[in-house]
Amino acid sequence: MAAGAPSRHLTISVLAALVLLVGAAGLAGCAGEEGGATPTTSLTLPDPAPATDATTTTAATTAEENPLVAPSPAAPVALPPAAPGLAPVVSRVPTTEKVVFMTIDDGMFRDPAIIGKFRELGIPFTMFLTPGYAEEDPEFFRGLQREGGTVQGHTVDHPNLLQLAPDAVRTQVCGTNDTFTRLFGTPQTLFRPPYGNTDADVQRAAASCGHRAVVLWKGSTNGGKLTMQDGPLTPGDIILMHFRDTLGADIDDVTRRVREEGFRIGRLEDWLVGTTP
Ligand SMILES: [Zn+2]
Repeated sequence: MAAGAPSRHLTISVLAALVLLVGAAGLAGCAGEEGGATPTTSLTLPDPAPATDATTTTAATTAEENPLVAPSPAAPVALPPAAPGLAPVVSRVPTTEKVVFMTIDDGMFRDPAIIGKFRELGIPFTMFLTPGYAEEDPEFFRGLQREGGTVQGHTVDHPNLLQLAPDAVRTQVCGTNDTFTRLFGTPQTLFRPPYGNTDADVQRAAASCGHRAVVLWKGSTNGGKLTMQDGPLTPGDIILMHFRDTLGADIDDVTRRVREEGFRIGRLEDWLVGTTP
């Protein structure tokens, strides 16, 4: 009988822990959605209002406490002027804040460990995907969305846009909107041209389908090493990365530089607020 009591106590403790874990997972996985967490949260929470408060508080606290994450800018950042009807081209966000931006292109190599890596880091990043790779494994990219990633456009099938007629350019630039909205639930607001090849036709096409900017870069990673065009990190730098087998090492080198040089990582969409339609 004496042996039964601790065992029962242990069983109840494990069950309680499981209920807490399941509840927490439901809250995290369903942020921004309705309904999914109701059965488990109703066990411990009297009504839906505390659940919303708890989720909001947790997210805000995490952002404030993470030394790698830059807060959103207090005022909108003015983009370089572009001619009427043309989206501006930007490779460095005009700011004096020590903030840089992580962008990851294409989507060819998809290592599930990267999702866990971003979960640990808690940093924002922007994915410029092509729809072919996105369609191959949308759950992978949705997993990254849940860990702080956003999805933006990178053409339908990765051509050199400078070799295409204006109509074909527009098809490439704007033709991913429906697919990505269906797969990821968010409209695109930024565009990255393959190889960084852009001109007025590309800028016009981008503006015509609601992109705030054509996004280039000031440095890139390759084989686990970040190389910046100007040497050290500079406020507002946009960093180009790819979904390659070295992405984990690439992320490590970027975060190492960010820490060593006293920078933080911002969410590109929060800083590039539009001057175009
Ligand atoms: Zn690309």
